[in-house]
Amino acid sequence: MTEAPDHHHSPVTVEFLSDWRNASYNCFSSGHKFCREVCPVMQVTRNESWTPTAFHANVVAMEKGELTVSDVAEDYVNCTQCGACELRCPNTLFTGDFYRFRTRTVDLVKQMRALAVDNGVHQPGYQRWNQLTDERTHEPVLGEVPVSQDHVRDWSSGLDLPIGGETILFVDCEAAFYRTSVPRAVAQILQRAGVEFGLMREQWCCGGPAAEMGYRDQAKRFAEHNLADWRASGVKRVLVLDPHDYITFTEDYPAYFGDDYEIEIVLVVELLAKLIAEGRLTPEIPIEHTITYHDPCRLNKRKGVWREPREILRSIPGLTFNDVDRVTQWSYCSGGGGGLPVEKPELTAKISENRLAKAAELEVDTLVSACPWSERPLSAAGEAHAIDVVDIHELLAESLGIEVGGSRGA
Ligand code: SF4
Ligand code: SF4
Repeated sequence: MTEAPDHHHSPVTVEFLSDWRNASYNCFSSGHKFCREVCPVMQVTRNESWTPTAFHANVVAMEKGELTVSDVAEDYVNCTQCGACELRCPNTLFTGDFYRFRTRTVDLVKQMRALAVDNGVHQPGYQRWNQLTDERTHEPVLGEVPVSQDHVRDWSSGLDLPIGGETILFVDCEAAFYRTSVPRAVAQILQRAGVEFGLMREQWCCGGPAAEMGYRDQAKRFAEHNLADWRASGVKRVLVLDPHDYITFTEDYPAYFGDDYEIEIVLVVELLAKLIAEGRLTPEIPIEHTITYHDPCRLNKRKGVWREPREILRSIPGLTFNDVDRVTQWSYCSGGGGGLPVEKPELTAKISENRLAKAAELEVDTLVSACPWSERPLSAAGEAHAIDVVDIHELLAESLGIEVGGSRGA
């Protein structure tokens, strides 16, 4: 790889440019910008500075000494890390099937945010958010919710779940403190199927949001804490209900720990589809709703998981399922990921509004999601369309006759 020329950049910037210059020139040489049309931020802003093309072009300009990280850092807030651009990019499409190649815009955005932090350039919302997360060891849920280690297992009140064991359930902060009905549904369904699992002794934030916003040291510190806790209590397998945690545990943690990372990560939605197929769970109570399904970006576009949630929905009697005709790179984003709601809540709201407008075209009364992070903005947008936003695990629990309990928002 060619060394990046040093235009008086800091050492961390020089290292970043040498890592990313080739990918950026490759993007630039294609010129068609297909990515723009699938980018949820572009769809609601039409701002050319907030596209994957611009994100790559900035790197080229930085290498030429025409821009510094502080000139462009703020632009990189405008990304939900959904991955649509990566799938749509011809650099992925033309070579992907053969070489399993994928453009890496999501990584570029993440690394550019980290570069900004390393150079002392902070976005005010990100900085505050990460300070609060550090103090509380959990994401700072808004409102009167008591977010702390002391309350991390409050959601499971009355469910009689053990601590530790070979298999544990990791509950993301949004679900543990805000939408507690989701982990309550998951835990009770797993109990119904006879799956043995416990809870973590001391569960900190997975560190994924800090990593996405560029606060790498904090992210790694949290990861080290969680892995040490797993090892100390003999955990071999972690069940994960939140798509964001799933990305963190299957992509960030292996990058931090390499071959020392011996934990099996199981996505709950895949496990539940399997339990249904094996006859260990049989949804029997009809649910008379007309629904569509919201593919969380981190499951569908980032991980290729879109069949299993549909298998679960098709197993529930009474549902009329009006599915979207677009999956993979075409599925719509909620706007709730990648730290966008922290700095640009108004953009998150517009993207969620777009998503609900698409659901309304299918004449549904319910939008089913599988991601606690998307449910808050989607629910807010759903009110205007009289469309209820329901989590897939809650819906399955209902059809299994389980009284879930808990809160669907503070
Ligand atoms: S990211 Fe891909 S689709 Fe977008 S401009 Fe670059 S090469 Fe073209
Ligand atoms: S990851 Fe999503 S939000 Fe970010 S640039 Fe790509 S399409 Fe846009």
